[in-house]
Amino acid sequence: MTDQTHALHFGYEKDSQGTMAVPIYMSTAYEFRDSEHAANLFALKELGNIYTRLMNPTTAVFEKRFAKIEGGIAAIATASGMSAIFSCIVNLCEAGDNILVASEVYGGTSTLTGHTIKRMGIETRTFNVLDTSKIESLIDDKTKIIIFESLSNPSLAVPDFEAIVAIANKYNIITVVDNTVATPILCKPLELGCDLVVHSTSKYTGGQGLALGGIIIEGETCEAKIKANLKYNHFNEPDPSYHGLVYTDLPFPSFIMRMLLCVLRDLGATPSPFNSWLMIQGLETLSLRIKEHSKNALKIAEFLQNHPKIKKVNYPLLKNDINYTNASKYFNNGASGLLSFIVEDFDTAVKIADSTEIFSVVVNIGDSKSLIVHPASTTHQQLSNDELIACGISDSLVRISVGLEDVDDLIADLNKAI
Ligand code: PLP
Repeated sequence: MTDQTHALHFGYEKDSQGTMAVPIYMSTAYEFRDSEHAANLFALKELGNIYTRLMNPTTAVFEKRFAKIEGGIAAIATASGMSAIFSCIVNLCEAGDNILVASEVYGGTSTLTGHTIKRMGIETRTFNVLDTSKIESLIDDKTKIIIFESLSNPSLAVPDFEAIVAIANKYNIITVVDNTVATPILCKPLELGCDLVVHSTSKYTGGQGLALGGIIIEGETCEAKIKANLKYNHFNEPDPSYHGLVYTDLPFPSFIMRMLLCVLRDLGATPSPFNSWLMIQGLETLSLRIKEHSKNALKIAEFLQNHPKIKKVNYPLLKNDINYTNASKYFNNGASGLLSFIVEDFDTAVKIADSTEIFSVVVNIGDSKSLIVHPASTTHQQLSNDELIACGISDSLVRISVGLEDVDDLIADLNKAI
């Protein structure tokens, strides 16, 4: 079966009412049959619902469905994309460790990894995602993760997956790929040998800018990297916070189990069941929408490329784009609705953003409505000049998230604004 069929059916067993739509199980907690049942659930002798900070039946459908579409073995939904990324780091690293992070990542990921976790004793070493030759020199025995985006926001870089995976496998290090912008319909990092995928489901997954959400999907390769690997000893040794549980001894994927039993338990960045339900609605049409977003974006990219006032357009499926080779190799069905372009200067960039009528000036991406933003003064404002240059953002860059309106109306709107 294809992704589109799984997106409508996978992971949901109809209840006794024959309910077609996945019900919203709006409940904080679940009744145990008796105290023994409760004790068995806590001791993992039986599996079942305990408390919504850890699990919820609506969220479980979303997790199973998303894992299936990404080609993973298990998933955990989180309250937002940022909490998904932070939870991955917390699950794998401790003070004294370091992580490698591509420079070309979302601004929040840059500040999280470059500043916030530094205060917790975790060092971030950055690499240019388009130049994999430097990665090995950054690795030592304390390197725990390599994080990069499959299609970076907003510079739209497409990494050389094969090269990064080969290095990560050589040193037995876990790769974490943020697949938010590409979505599993365009790119499947787990099939390319990556270990974990994270998403901000607030974007294309939800699809209508309705709710925040995140998800982490574990790939088949992750368990082998964790098992008996001294780097990830906390999965292989008894956990005193869970009466001596050894995660790799469990008959379940240990990364996701520790995420659930330890990280969600203690950090509590769980989605609301209502938001999980919204994500399920979004997932149903994701594959149809993202192809249409991509088609519209390519047409707009071609229009902008031929416009005399536009200095440069970044869109991986333009034949002269630096990412064209990797995009053609690793992407199917298009390259998303995100594109960016460079104009004369800062003032022109801001003026264009302010002059459009259909495009709204919004920091979000992946909405069904078209959005425009000036990253240097908004999403990436907290980055220093050096950080801005490293992630490919200049003062005169405009980012657009192409929606599902008629593409000729969008082109006319941009033409007028420019
Ligand atoms: N990852 C990427 C690529 C993003 O674009 C964003 C937000 O824009 C995030 C992560 C963070 O997601 P959230 O806003 O859901 O926390």
